[in-house]
Amino acid sequence: MRTSVAIIGAGPAGLLLSHLLHRQGIDSTVLELRSRAYAERRQRAGILEQATVDVLRASGAGARMDREGLPHHGIELRFDRRAHRIDFPSLAGGRSVMVYAQTEVVKDLIALRRAAGGTLLFEAEALSVDGIGTDAPRVRYRHDGAEHTLHCDYVIACDGFHGIGRRSLPPDALTVSAREYPFAWLGILAEVPPSCDELVYAHHERGFALHSMRSRHVSRLYLQVDPHDRPADWPDERIWDELETRFATDDGWRLRRGPVTEKSITPMRSFVAEPMRYGRLFLAGDAAHIVPPTGAKGLNLAVADVTLLARALAHRYAHGDPSLLDAYSEAALRRVWRAEHFSYTLTTLLHPAPDESAFDRRLRLSHLRYLVSSQAAAASLAENYVGLPVV
Ligand SMILES: Cc1cc2nc3c(=O)[nH]c(=O)nc-3n(C[C@H](O)[C@H](O)[C@H](O)COP(=O)(O)OP(=O)(O)OC[C@H]3O[C@@H](n4cnc5c(N)ncnc54)[C@H](O)[C@@H]3O)c2cc1C
Repeated sequence: MRTSVAIIGAGPAGLLLSHLLHRQGIDSTVLELRSRAYAERRQRAGILEQATVDVLRASGAGARMDREGLPHHGIELRFDRRAHRIDFPSLAGGRSVMVYAQTEVVKDLIALRRAAGGTLLFEAEALSVDGIGTDAPRVRYRHDGAEHTLHCDYVIACDGFHGIGRRSLPPDALTVSAREYPFAWLGILAEVPPSCDELVYAHHERGFALHSMRSRHVSRLYLQVDPHDRPADWPDERIWDELETRFATDDGWRLRRGPVTEKSITPMRSFVAEPMRYGRLFLAGDAAHIVPPTGAKGLNLAVADVTLLARALAHRYAHGDPSLLDAYSEAALRRVWRAEHFSYTLTTLLHPAPDESAFDRRLRLSHLRYLVSSQAAAASLAENYVGLPVV
């Protein structure tokens, strides 16, 4: 089999890249390890930056997002039993975010690729990537019980943190920077209307809590927990009691409880592998970088990476000029490192570490108070949260 661009992984990065290339008349083949049903119900991110919304709209993938997504113009920081609103449009030049679940972005993109007759193979596991140092790379994969080879011009690894793309590079070709955090997030989905209109980021001495939502009827809530905890350690009542404690305010705010439909624990890590290219193999999305979810950047970085890549590949195919492909890694990494810094800062600001000192606690409170009393500090938070334009 032959294609122009072989894409490994049908997460948001791989699907959007395939869609954007199709709009430029460039054919691609997407190989996805999991089934379509699994890919469409995997619960993950839900906050789309302004630039992500713009890219989806401009590419014709934003119609359902515009009908069903929830535009959000601010977040709430909660600490010391008080709520403080950060208003995005006034602080970040009119920019905002959209609440629209990653599952829905994935469903919309799969439907678009299918409607356009795109080659999207589910339950197709990429086994190896070879020839990336030559102009004839190829991907060996297993599908329907048989092994096949996909010949192509370029391979784009959009196969997430555990994929094979990054591992196909010579070990000394990559520099890896990483940090593990001494806490994890317990996340639940609950069949109950959100108890707030905007996301609430709560700092409490017992730990961080986040109230988010997936729709007007479904709440998404997170608790900072020990990284060794298992979901079974957290029966539903214990979760709701702990959420209530961490969100408590003096103004009578009430948390609505409802049936928990999903529960999982996610480790928190920061990770960057650079450069994001070796020969004919390019890395995009979680395959190259991970951020702790506090800043809601993971999905948005994946979208920014493939937006750059689609433009660079279109330029290469239209004009025979690889200069944008050559510039891809550096351009993508500028944004990645900004998001890494923001996500790290927000994470360490809001999560008490198990071994922290009284000095650390006082610094945190001072930083939180500064954020909600200084327009300049709040503007910096807002600007980073709504995200930078894709340049
Ligand atoms: C549990 C969890 C919760 C998260 N919550 C948030 C959040 O609240 N906010 C936020 O901003 N971000 C969150 N993220 C991060 C965000 O979801 C990711 O950044 C985003 O999914 C990245 O998209 P991607 O396309 O790069 O990778 P992925 O979505 O991981 O897609 C990679 C795809 O590659 C496939 N694949 C892997 N190996 C192979 C192979 N060998 N052959 C073929 N296919 C393969 C996988 O099955 C997968 O479908 C979360 C991530 C996780 C894991």
